[in-house]
Amino acid sequence: MDQQPPTSDSGQPAGEPRACILVVDDHPANLVALEAILAPLGHELVMARSGEEALREILHREFALILLDVQMADMNGFETAGYIKQHPRSRHIPIIFITAVNRDAVHVFRGYSHGAVDYLVKPFDADILRSKAAVFIELYVRGEKLKLQERLLHQREREAAERKSQERYRRLLDVMPECIWAADAQGKVNYWNRPGLAYCGLRPADVHEDSFWECVHPDDRSDARAQWEAGLRSGASFERQVRIKRAADGSYRWHLARAVPERETDGTIVGWIATATDIDDQKRAEEALRKAIILRDDFLSVASHELRTPLTSLKLEVANLSRIARRDGGSSGAPRLIAKVEKIDSQAARLHRLIDELLDVSRIAAGRLELHVEAVDLAQIVNEVGTRFSDEAARVGSTLNIHAPASVVGRWDKSRLDQVVTNLVSNAIKYGDNKPIDVTLEAEDDRAVVTIRDRGLGIAPNDHERIFGRFERAASTRHYGGIGLGLWIVKQIIDALGGTVTVESTPGTGSTFTVELPRSADKARHPTATLERHLATGAHQHS
Ligand code: ADP
Repeated sequence: MDQQPPTSDSGQPAGEPRACILVVDDHPANLVALEAILAPLGHELVMARSGEEALREILHREFALILLDVQMADMNGFETAGYIKQHPRSRHIPIIFITAVNRDAVHVFRGYSHGAVDYLVKPFDADILRSKAAVFIELYVRGEKLKLQERLLHQREREAAERKSQERYRRLLDVMPECIWAADAQGKVNYWNRPGLAYCGLRPADVHEDSFWECVHPDDRSDARAQWEAGLRSGASFERQVRIKRAADGSYRWHLARAVPERETDGTIVGWIATATDIDDQKRAEEALRKAIILRDDFLSVASHELRTPLTSLKLEVANLSRIARRDGGSSGAPRLIAKVEKIDSQAARLHRLIDELLDVSRIAAGRLELHVEAVDLAQIVNEVGTRFSDEAARVGSTLNIHAPASVVGRWDKSRLDQVVTNLVSNAIKYGDNKPIDVTLEAEDDRAVVTIRDRGLGIAPNDHERIFGRFERAASTRHYGGIGLGLWIVKQIIDALGGTVTVESTPGTGSTFTVELPRSADKARHPTATLERHLATGAHQHS
């Protein structure tokens, strides 16, 4: 049997592009006549009773041909054609002018100059009009078909390219070590990469809508799911830590789960990509480290407290002993006894300082460094420390030169600043190679600057930053005692007061430590940069 192509209501073969003819005439009778002539062509006819109406129609749809009456009341055919030709959208539409008068050549010429493709004078033969219209429609339909084919071809090419890139993308996802999922815009998971399936012990055929959530630890499930659903609604990417069950041994391992939306160029979300990275080992190591640090600091704190008590009474006893020895100055053994007792005293003082440092470390590490901010005269502190150390400096053959104005008052913590200057001056004596030391205090309206300059060992540039760290040392442990805490404590205190401490030094020629402090308390901040906080921040970045 002969297969006829299916036809639409208008008698056009289905799938054929439909053409539309615009007929413009201000006499309804003419419109009726033209409609009767053109109807057998089987294309859509749009009737307009004025130039204006015609222009409106042209704005809204596409036409294959325009039949335009020349003599119309308001806007004649030539004017209407003028507008049509001006508009890029309608410029290319062929126009056939129809007129009852003006048969002369000039008029016909005017019609062509207005973009007419033909010019019919009434009375005309209906068959001729129909066949002329049919030619233009045929041209239009062919053009449309070509366009359609081109579009289809492009679409197919694009689809093939998309398929190819999708395949490549999936292959790539399959070789990644992480578990990866793809979901549609509503969050329905439609793809698991191979490691994801393997980790959860699933075959592609077993996967259903809730498979992922069934693998998440029951305690993490509802919160994680709520966050995922909130992300779906807001379109914001997100991440959180969840425990996911490893099918191989049934253990739940911590993962960092992330989801990011896939967007079209206009921003519309077309899907989601979710990944889970196993961070279990890292997390356990961090937890263990955290516990060890807390334990160590607790131990430090308890041990230094315990050590301090007997030491304080020991110091007291030594002081008594020294007093008794001095009182009995006449007896022959006394000078040696005094020397011995002084030695014990100085060793006890050293031990005391060490224990105080340890105690400070545990305080600062636990965030318990308390500042008692009040009006403090830094010049007084510098002078007091100078006096305290002048004997010691003299003993090693050094001199301690203090350069300070009469007073420099700021809002600081007195005993903590004393500690800072003490630490820096005792380091200058310790590492100063018995050469003169200068302590200089200068003040400006809003800040004070203390510099401690020695002419001794010096510090290699690579160590300038490091020595402010906890337990960091740069000098030979064989020659110099110390545990590398003094500068760390100095830095913590100065940081907390909103200031800075820096060093300039060249090995062999000495070091200059500079402390800069704002004079008002509002610049002060609380101690930062404890190791615990570093860890907490590190962990936070992963969560
Ligand atoms: P320590 O108890 O080891 O002296 P600090 O924290 O006070 O600890 O100093 C850390 C390290 O910085 C020291 O071990 C030393 O190497 C170096 N250092 C500090 N002050 C000076 C200085 N004035 N000259 C040379 N090196 C110094």
